[in-house]
Amino acid sequence: MQFGIPRTIYAEEHEIFRASVARFLKEEVLPEYESWEDAGRTPREIWQRAGEVGILGTSTPEAYGGMGGDFLFDAIVIEELGRHGVAAPAWDMHAYIIAPFLQHFGSEAQKKEWLPKMAAGDIITAIGLTEPGGGSDLKEINTSAKADGGDYIIDGAKTFITNGHIADFVLLAVKTDRSLGAKGVTLFWTDLALDGVTRGKNLKKIGNKAQDTAELFFDGVRVPAANMIGGLNEGWRVLMHGLIQERLVVAVRSAVMAEVAVDQTVTYTRDRKAFGQTVFDFQNTQFKLAEMAADVEAARPFVDRCIELHVAGDLSMDVAAKVKLWTTELADRVLDECLQLHGGYGYMWEFPIARAWADARVHRIYAGTNEVMKYIIARGL
Ligand SMILES: Cc1cc2nc3c(=O)[nH]c(=O)nc-3n(C[C@H](O)[C@H](O)[C@H](O)COP(=O)(O)OP(=O)(O)OC[C@H]3O[C@@H](n4cnc5c(N)ncnc54)[C@H](O)[C@@H]3O)c2cc1C
Repeated sequence: MQFGIPRTIYAEEHEIFRASVARFLKEEVLPEYESWEDAGRTPREIWQRAGEVGILGTSTPEAYGGMGGDFLFDAIVIEELGRHGVAAPAWDMHAYIIAPFLQHFGSEAQKKEWLPKMAAGDIITAIGLTEPGGGSDLKEINTSAKADGGDYIIDGAKTFITNGHIADFVLLAVKTDRSLGAKGVTLFWTDLALDGVTRGKNLKKIGNKAQDTAELFFDGVRVPAANMIGGLNEGWRVLMHGLIQERLVVAVRSAVMAEVAVDQTVTYTRDRKAFGQTVFDFQNTQFKLAEMAADVEAARPFVDRCIELHVAGDLSMDVAAKVKLWTTELADRVLDECLQLHGGYGYMWEFPIARAWADARVHRIYAGTNEVMKYIIARGL
């Protein structure tokens, strides 16, 4: 589809990188994708290939094995994943949500030890915040860590953990001081091969089927104090710092998925016949598509401006919540309308619109639910 408003945030070097990411996805990811969906997980080798292509270290400094770019390069990967309907592997979470915590809050030794391996795809990571008792209210984290000599002993459980089965390490949020509420949270870089860690079943989801999502159980797990990220009882502050980028990542993906869905639906309805004409010829179809085309066009400058602001370090928590709320609601609405215009085929998994509809539904739920986004926005009114 031709969008009327030209994009201005990317330069030629970005577009060259985009073409290499798109080629990699088409040649090495899409042919295998269905088998990963069936398996409910992605193989380690494709993580290592993504590392070689540069996808996992776009904004990791060169000194730690990355490309040393900025969030614009991250955004390109996120857009291409969304454009090609690739919901897994969860490279965006590993590289653009978890790695920045280490970059900003890790010690020199921690950064040297783990960032190059993350950028190469030699280790796979997860983040463990949500617990069976709740995800929105992170003050209520129950998993605890108690000091014991030079170590901490971790007990508790996490759920809905993306990469929970395939990850080597989880950035784990635990309570180190219950009397401090949210301020008593600490983050530990936790090796999932340690004694006392158990991985629960691979949870069956309605979308993102090639991503494994697991429960994790910690029973007396001994983690060295040296694996603390950001300091004792600093977990809340560290997590807050990451939320802006996390929400922007989801917004970027939602916006591009909505664009692609409109495009695919124009093509499909122009081809499909009913009552002696194409489905596109019905005025209802044209009006629906026209409304959606206008909506996705409106999303583009909003998202691009947020990307620009973020690269400059100026995207506020409030605007990040707005762009996450607005793009995820838009994508959900657009994907649903587009599915409808595909008729029964839209409900068939082999059709990209069916997958996209199911994959994007979670965007309103994770990275903070959209109800939580409304609280954040309302606080600033
Ligand atoms: C596919 C998938 C992958 C995920 N990956 C990860 C991961 O890698 N790591 C991780 O830690 N978590 C992950 N999550 C968890 C996700 O972050 C949580 O599901 C989310 O934060 C919501 O928490 P909850 O599910 O406990 O819902 P709840 O907190 O129980 O919320 C239930 C409903 O109540 C609403 N609600 C809650 N509080 C309020 C309020 N104060 N006012 C109004 N409404 C409210 C919510 O918006 C929601 O609609 C994942 C989830 C999914 C589905």
